[in-house]
Amino acid sequence: MNPSNPPSGPSNFIRDIMLDDLKTNKFGGRVHTRFPPEPNGYLHIGHAKSICLNFGLAAEFGGKTNLRFDDTNPEKEEVEYVESIKEMVHWLGFDWEDRCFYASDYFQQLYDWAVQLIRGGQAYVCDLNAEAVRQYRGTLTEPGKESPFRNRPVEENLDLFERMKAGEFPDGARTLRAKIDMASPNLNMRDPIMYRILHAEHHRTGDAWCLYPTYDYAHGQSDSIERITHSICTLEFEDHRPLYDWFCDALGIYHPQQIEFDRLNLTYTMMSKRKFLQLVRDHHVRGWDDPRMPTLAGIRRRGYTPEAIRNFCGAIGVSKTNGTLEFALLEHHVREDLNKRAARVMAVLRPLRVVIDNYPEGQVEYMEAVNNPEDASAGTRQVPFSKVLYIEQEDFREDPPKQYFRLAPGREVRLRYGYFVTCRNAVKDAAGRVTEIHCTYDPATRGGNAPDGRKVKSTIHWVSAVHAVDAEVRLYDSLFTKEDPNDVPEGQDFTVNLNPHSLEAVTGAKLEPSLAGAEPMQFFQFERLGYFSVDPDTTPEKPVFNRTAPLRDTWAKIEKRGKAGK
Ligand code: ATP
Ligand code: MG
Repeated sequence: MNPSNPPSGPSNFIRDIMLDDLKTNKFGGRVHTRFPPEPNGYLHIGHAKSICLNFGLAAEFGGKTNLRFDDTNPEKEEVEYVESIKEMVHWLGFDWEDRCFYASDYFQQLYDWAVQLIRGGQAYVCDLNAEAVRQYRGTLTEPGKESPFRNRPVEENLDLFERMKAGEFPDGARTLRAKIDMASPNLNMRDPIMYRILHAEHHRTGDAWCLYPTYDYAHGQSDSIERITHSICTLEFEDHRPLYDWFCDALGIYHPQQIEFDRLNLTYTMMSKRKFLQLVRDHHVRGWDDPRMPTLAGIRRRGYTPEAIRNFCGAIGVSKTNGTLEFALLEHHVREDLNKRAARVMAVLRPLRVVIDNYPEGQVEYMEAVNNPEDASAGTRQVPFSKVLYIEQEDFREDPPKQYFRLAPGREVRLRYGYFVTCRNAVKDAAGRVTEIHCTYDPATRGGNAPDGRKVKSTIHWVSAVHAVDAEVRLYDSLFTKEDPNDVPEGQDFTVNLNPHSLEAVTGAKLEPSLAGAEPMQFFQFERLGYFSVDPDTTPEKPVFNRTAPLRDTWAKIEKRGKAGK
C-alpha cells in the first residue's frame, strides 16, 4: 500500500499504529492480521469485535487476515466448535480465503524450537508438580524461588524431554520451562511452562503427541510462522507480550507487533465460553444457539443481522481500558438496521375477537398496505379484511384509564389500512373476562381516512380471523436480572442471577396470511410490536417466530410514569 495515500476508515489507535508502520516501512508495507480463537466453545459477541477489527483493518489496508485455531488444549476442544467458529466468521461477512491454520500444524516446529532452547541453555525440564510450581512462583510482591531442577545439564534436559515425548512419564510428572527470571516483576517471566505431559487425544493430531505446548509458548511463534504483522489481542495479554517477545528473540525468529485493546463487556450478559458451557450443560438454555445467549449462533437465531453487528462493532471503537457497555446499545444498532430493511406486517400476539356487526357476512376486501415506509421500493401488499378480526387484548379496555386512547366502549379508533371502527359492547365469560367485542365500522373510511376530516386518537393493528395463520411467537427478556451477572452473594454462582422470565412462548398468535411459508432467518417488523425473525423450528403448519427486539414502547413509559405517581 502507498503510504502517501492512506485508507480513509474511522480513526482508532490500532489503525494509527498501522499507518505509522506503513510510513516507516516497518513490515515492508504489509498488513497481515489473524483471528485466533481457541476451539473450546462457540463464539460470542465479544469475539465479533475482534473479528471485525482484524478482518476490517486488514481489508482497509489491502492486507490479509488468517483464521487460526489455537488448539493447544486437547481436553477442551472439539471439531464441533471448529465448524461453528468457521460458520460464524463467514456469517459475519468475512473470509480467510485459503488461510485457515491450526497451532497444531506447528507442533513439530514448536518441539524443534524447544529443543533449540534447551540446547541454548534457555529451557529446562522441571520435576516440580503443579502445586509446587505455583508456590515457587512467588507473588506480585515477593520474588519467586528457583526450581531445584533449573540448572540441569543440557544433555539431561534433552534426554528427559525426548522421553517425555515418547510417553515414558505420566501426566503432570514433568514440564519443560523457559529459563528466564524468577525475580522478574512480571509473573509471566518467572520460568513459564512451555510443555506439559498430557496423554490425551487431540481432535486433529490424534495420539501423535502426549505432550502439548502451552498457549503462551505456542501463540507468539504461531504468529511468527504466519508472518503476522499486527497481532491484535485483548488487554489481559499485555503482560504476556514481553514473554512472546522473549521467545521470538531467543529463537532469533521474525516477530510481529502485538497490540492490545479492551474486551467487550455488555450489561445483563457475560462473555465467557466456560460459563456458556455450564448454561448449556445444565439446561438453563436450550443450547449454544438459544436466542437469549450472547453467542453469535444465539443472536443470529434471535434475528440480529451481521450488518447490525458490524455497525455496532464499528461504532464502539477500541480503547486501552476495559469497561461495560449497555446491552441496549447493541439493540439500538439492530433496530437501526432492521428499521431500514424489515418488511412491515400485522400480527396479533394475544388475540381478542372483534365482530364488526354492520360488515356484510362473507365479504372480503383486500386492503393495500405499505411494506416499508422507509423504503418505497419495497412496494405494497394486499391484506384481507372481513367481518371477524383479531386485535390485541391490550388494545381494548372496558374501563380505560386516563391517557388510554385505544378501543373502549363507545370509542372510535382506526384499524391500520382498514376502517374506522367504534366499539359497541363487550361479551364476557362466566368469570367476567372479555371474550369478544362488537364494533361497527364506517364504510366511508376505507383505507383509514375519514372524508369529513374527523380524527381518532389511536391506530391499532388487526388480522382477519378466517385468513389468519396460527403461530408460536417467542418473546425474550434479558437472560440475567442483574446488570453484572457475576455479582453474586458469597458461595453462590452466577446462575442465581438467571432471569426466570427470560423466555415467554406465546402459542396462540395470529398472523396476516402473507407470513405463511416464511423461511428461517427472514425478518419482519410486526407493526407496533417489534422486530421478529423466523426461528429454525418453524414448519409450514406452525410458523415459529422470535422477537428480535421490541420497538420503543411509549405506552409502557407512560404507564411506568403513572405508577411512579409522576
Ligand atoms: P472466553 O473467555 O470467552 O473463552 P477467550 O479470550 O478465551 O474468551 P479466545 O478463543 O481465546 O477466547 O479468543 C479469540 C480472540 O477473541 C482473542 O484474540 C481474544 O482476545 C478475542 N476476544 C475474546 N473475548 C473478547 C471480548 N469480550 N472482546 C473482544 N475480544 C475478545
Ligand atoms: Mg482463551
